[in-house]
Amino acid sequence: MIVAPLGSGSAGNAYYFESDGTSILVDAGFGPRETKRRLVQVGRDIEKLRAIVVTHEHYDHIRGAGSIARKYGIPIYLTQGTLDASDIDRAETPYVVFPNDSTFAIGELNVHARRTLHDAADPACFVIESRDGTRVGLASDLGYADEPVVQHLRQCDGLFFESNHDLDMLRMGTYPWSLKRRIMSRFGHLSNDDSMLAVQRMIGADLKTLCMIHLSQKNNHESIVRDMALRTIARTGAQLELSIAQQFQATGLFDIKRRGGPRAPVPPRGVQMALF
Ligand SMILES: [Zn+2]
Ligand SMILES: [Zn+2]
Repeated sequence: MIVAPLGSGSAGNAYYFESDGTSILVDAGFGPRETKRRLVQVGRDIEKLRAIVVTHEHYDHIRGAGSIARKYGIPIYLTQGTLDASDIDRAETPYVVFPNDSTFAIGELNVHARRTLHDAADPACFVIESRDGTRVGLASDLGYADEPVVQHLRQCDGLFFESNHDLDMLRMGTYPWSLKRRIMSRFGHLSNDDSMLAVQRMIGADLKTLCMIHLSQKNNHESIVRDMALRTIARTGAQLELSIAQQFQATGLFDIKRRGGPRAPVPPRGVQMALF
């Protein structure tokens, strides 16, 4: 599977996924022109997008969704809560509502959604799975990485996971106290410490690519996150590629393949029933 973070952070989020001829965006925090420009940076064509899947209604994740969907005639996949809390023009914009905690298919990709804790109406994180069983997890804007989310994101081949702020930088920084409190709450954003605790639990035998996303521009620094992530990886003994997603440009193209070759196909339902 090809994955490209096109931009990550509170100034805009968009992640490109492609496998077996199906291309989708997860989140669309940039307008059509900027999204197209960043896709060109990684050699991809906006015209080939099949859908936009949205994590939640915050502006940095949804700002470009409506205009891209209308311009290219592709649907936005979102939860009912996200739709109701957004200002998407339902009469003019193609959209598909998916129930949270469900799996749905877009072309050759399966998307597994799981509810997250964040100050949004019905936010989700995703595992995107290709035909050969390659699984890539993406989760940002989490106040807290609860057990269902950690379990959901285990056994991935690639993981894109929030490491939003350094707690000391946030505490000492210039944000008003109310905003600091919101960010630190269970419905805010993941601190580096909490992120690494979760990552340590999610690093499995399959994980090949780890990318830390949605870093705060004001209350974090790439070098802090990189050091902490390297220490976390070292503790697990895993051999994997580490990246930090950029805000103002595409971070590059990841080609994520399953280490162990294609996963064994899931037996069709009902086979066991036939034995009785
Ligand atoms: Zn965000
Ligand atoms: Zn958010």
